[in-house]
Amino acid sequence: VVEIGQPEHAVVTTCAYCGVGCSFKAEMRGTELVRMVPWKDGKANHGHSCVKGRFAWGYANHGDRILNPMVRERITDPWREVSWDEALARVASEFARIQKTYGRGAIGGITSSRCTNEETYLVQKLIRSVFGNNNVDTCARVCHSPTGYGLKTAFGTSAGTQDFDSVDEADVIVVIGANPTDGHPVFGARMKRRIRAGAKLIVIDPRRTDIVRSPHVEAAFHLPLRPGTNVAVMNAIAHVIVTEGLIDERFVRERCELSAFEGWAAFVAEPRNSPEAIGPIAGLDPEAIRGAARLYATGGNAAIYYGLGVTEHSQGTTTVMAMANLAMATGNLGRPGVGVNPLRGQNNVQGSCDMGSFPHEFPGYRHVSDDATRTVFEKLWGVALDDEPGLRIPNMLDAAVEGSFKGLYVQGEDIAQSDPDTHHVVAGLEAMECVVVQDIFLNETANYAHVFLPGSTFLEKDGTFTNAERRINRVRRVMPSRSGMADWEITLAIAAAMGRPMPYAHPSEIMDEIAATTPSFAGVSYARLEAEGSVQWPCNEAAPHGTPIMHVDGFVRGRGQFMITEYVATEERSTGRFPLLLTTGRILSQYNVGAQTRRTANVVWHPEDVLEIHPHDAENRGIRDGDWVKLESRAGATTLRARITDRVAPGVVYTTFHHPETQANVITTDFSDWATNCPEYKVTAVQVGASNGP
Ligand code: SF4
Repeated sequence: VVEIGQPEHAVVTTCAYCGVGCSFKAEMRGTELVRMVPWKDGKANHGHSCVKGRFAWGYANHGDRILNPMVRERITDPWREVSWDEALARVASEFARIQKTYGRGAIGGITSSRCTNEETYLVQKLIRSVFGNNNVDTCARVCHSPTGYGLKTAFGTSAGTQDFDSVDEADVIVVIGANPTDGHPVFGARMKRRIRAGAKLIVIDPRRTDIVRSPHVEAAFHLPLRPGTNVAVMNAIAHVIVTEGLIDERFVRERCELSAFEGWAAFVAEPRNSPEAIGPIAGLDPEAIRGAARLYATGGNAAIYYGLGVTEHSQGTTTVMAMANLAMATGNLGRPGVGVNPLRGQNNVQGSCDMGSFPHEFPGYRHVSDDATRTVFEKLWGVALDDEPGLRIPNMLDAAVEGSFKGLYVQGEDIAQSDPDTHHVVAGLEAMECVVVQDIFLNETANYAHVFLPGSTFLEKDGTFTNAERRINRVRRVMPSRSGMADWEITLAIAAAMGRPMPYAHPSEIMDEIAATTPSFAGVSYARLEAEGSVQWPCNEAAPHGTPIMHVDGFVRGRGQFMITEYVATEERSTGRFPLLLTTGRILSQYNVGAQTRRTANVVWHPEDVLEIHPHDAENRGIRDGDWVKLESRAGATTLRARITDRVAPGVVYTTFHHPETQANVITTDFSDWATNCPEYKVTAVQVGASNGP
């Protein structure tokens, strides 16, 4: 029992784990954080929280924190602690040398979906206006980039359509490739409450996740599809809706591009898209597909919620478009209880995308080739800007291996652990001449860095995060930065060291610049956030108090755009050598690669990652529950313990990726989404065999 004593004051801030964006009161005694209490007035969580936000904040004070800048000549040398001035001078001189030697495009940077909007805005500004290129990307590349591309194509904006409160009006809830109980616990609980009140549930997921069957919650349909067949199943559902006359004709006529609709309807009506044709491909009962389709189209307000099980595929973008097609065809958009809603994994995935962290887009999703947009930023920043899209993360790594990309600034991201095909990532990093890592711990990427800049946790800085429902929440400084500089201050210091200082005294001034340059944020200010608690973008003259539900009277792009969604089987398929398909996910108490949660007491709930395997597959291989097994793909191999369970279907295995020892990304391949390069984490052909342990 730990005596925590009475708090003296409290600061309201926002959880830095998942995209639900729960508000908390950080209760303080002096500068010591005593406890985190879910805030009853938080509009995303209404006083609820999960075990991550509530308990897993102690990493901020963990002894592994790096508090001083460090440099070294070669990545094999030991680190040497230096002053901030020396470290920043090193960054500036190395980046200048590289650009002089190899050209302006030889350096770039990566922003983090863990950092604030203001910090990501600054990084893209640094790269565009100081580095002089568009080589900026975000870790959203490896999670929800297909959401951005798919929803923008269909509806005109790269964001979910609804607010969380909307789920209370849903009659049918469709969960595709998401595990809200573990990944988005507070919203998952809310979903279950709605289901207990009578909403019907359809789950499309290879694994029997908790929400399929839990106390007083039972899915009307669980479609345990074969990994990699999302598009085929979406097309089969669409086939039923079209051929059985379940289209909302008025919605389509009044709101959508008619010729595109007709082309799509003819395409999905083809016999090759029928449930009978798709069932064997996806490993599903055709009647279950028909039943789910009828329920979605006729059950009242139907809302789709989806996660990385949709996006992290070679056809991730196609599946996003296919879901948008279904919602438009059935008129399930533009009112409470409906929509197409990505469940964002990280706290600020939405925000990092909104802030122009992609190599082809300025803040507000405007293409770098758009003259009018470029002029806005050129006038404000006083510099000519590149009109060509820059390099995505995988392109930077490829270019590094080829020899033309030499310097990288990584803010709050661990690409050596979280990006696919670890061997290739490491080869790219090793080929660079200056890798600058800014983080709170010496992460895996730091093994290949020449400069380490100690970052700060969400408790140590001011700013904003934008959650999965486009809600901009304030992050308030609870304690002083332990390294002496918040992340936004470090980016400013790099700009100054490179000869182009940026004039901000507080993150509120950065938000003022975002509002001045980005129409969907035009009405956002810290004063408004103080007054209203939070606000959902678009927030501007037309919607001064924000926009909980989008596309009410018309789509942002005008008319909704149906897209032909041809199913193309992934090249990653099971073979005689690798007969099983591996898919991955998360567990409630842990978060992503575990850098934070493993350094808190939450680790007792999940001390290691395990491999779930069906009893038949285990028996065939002589594997017993708890045995060490070797998990091997064509990319690499790792070792972990087996858990025998029928949560996974025969032929499918599953693991989490919270512990670095698991090295899940040594296994994953280099296939990626055709439109965005989002890696295909969710399908890897593997073999499982007995092992004596690591
Ligand atoms: Fe809320 Fe997500 Fe944080 Fe849990 S992890 S408290 S659900 S924001």
